[in-house]
Amino acid sequence: MLTVPAYAATSATEPLTPTTVERRDVGPHDVLIEIKYVGICHSDIHNVRSEWGPASYPMVPGHEIAGVVVEVGSEVTGCAPGDRVGVGCMVNSCRVCEPCLRGEEQYCLNGNTLTYGSVDEDGTVTQGGYSTHVVVNDDFVLRLPGTLALDEAAPLLCAGITTYSPLRRWGAGPGKKVAVVGLGGLGHLAVKIAHALGAEVTVLSQSLKKMDDGLRLGAREYFATSDPATFERLAGAFDLVVNTVSARVDLDSYLGLLKPGGVLVNVGAPPEALSLNVFSLIMHGHIFAGSLIGGIRETQEMLDFCGAHGIGAEVEIVPAAKINEAFERMLASDVRYRFVIDTSTLT
Ligand code: NAP
Ligand code: ZN
Ligand code: ZN
Repeated sequence: MLTVPAYAATSATEPLTPTTVERRDVGPHDVLIEIKYVGICHSDIHNVRSEWGPASYPMVPGHEIAGVVVEVGSEVTGCAPGDRVGVGCMVNSCRVCEPCLRGEEQYCLNGNTLTYGSVDEDGTVTQGGYSTHVVVNDDFVLRLPGTLALDEAAPLLCAGITTYSPLRRWGAGPGKKVAVVGLGGLGHLAVKIAHALGAEVTVLSQSLKKMDDGLRLGAREYFATSDPATFERLAGAFDLVVNTVSARVDLDSYLGLLKPGGVLVNVGAPPEALSLNVFSLIMHGHIFAGSLIGGIRETQEMLDFCGAHGIGAEVEIVPAAKINEAFERMLASDVRYRFVIDTSTLT
């Protein structure tokens, strides 16, 4: 057992504070990773504050982990000490259900093991990456491309795969017009990835204040959703709209931006239920879809794609002492475009 520094939430309402967590001994299929950087995902805020339902405390969040292998178990063949690796939202799954066999462990029918807040095989609750080390089953350890720095690679492990997967599934590519709603952690990677896939990308943000960035990241156009004229001007314009907004939005406004047969895919996960006009959906043959991260195989594919295209996150590195401030800034949409914790500040 290894006792290591971490940052944890002790309740839904208290700020996160320094603590320690215990990491299990390295088993035959385990990998001990020294975490160098961990991204702050908006899901960490939803989870810490019990917005998706009652959570278990203390909770060490963090599922955008980038680090270096320290030790591997006797049966591990996929990585070796010194390798640069990543861990995303999952650290295990049943491996025998239909989704698992298809490589969609995120939809595991028997309940996958999330990187934090899940009950592990040994009965303990998993604790995430706001910490200096983690022990993970080798099948859930990803290889990071050599072309990317660890800090810019970390957010790919959640924000990257969460946008790559629906963009691929719903055919973002040459000749396709894709709108990305919300230019935050997920949104800015959606813009980069959709552009690299060959699609024509438009950003729909609350205001025009990040327009220069949006165009630099690969968007051709940029509009403010606070301006009602945006929805008139862009009516029926897109093949695919990817909604990354962490709060409630009016889905019908975004469905109105689709061509007949177009797809609105929701990856933003506000706690409140959203409604939509089914009659309008029918009349235009629109598809409304959800999407949860991506499977392990597809996550590796995404990392290799991002490595080949030089796509990393735009990051603001923060020390552990600024985690609570970073949460507040994210809630105010004041992030360009992902906070990443330098875990050397945890000790
Ligand atoms: P983020 O960095 O905070 O970005 C969210 C963006 O949404 C903001 O930057 C802002 O963009 C926009 N926004 C925020 N509040 C808004 C409001 N009230 N009205 C309109 N727009 C608003 O968050 P993130 O880490 O990208 O995560 C976004 C959402 O995706 C969260 O709900 C998270 O839990 C969810 N998520 C889902 C998955 C999945 O598997 N489906 C995976 C990861 C995260 P502008 O300033 O440009 O308007
Ligand atoms: Zn996440
Ligand atoms: Zn399964």
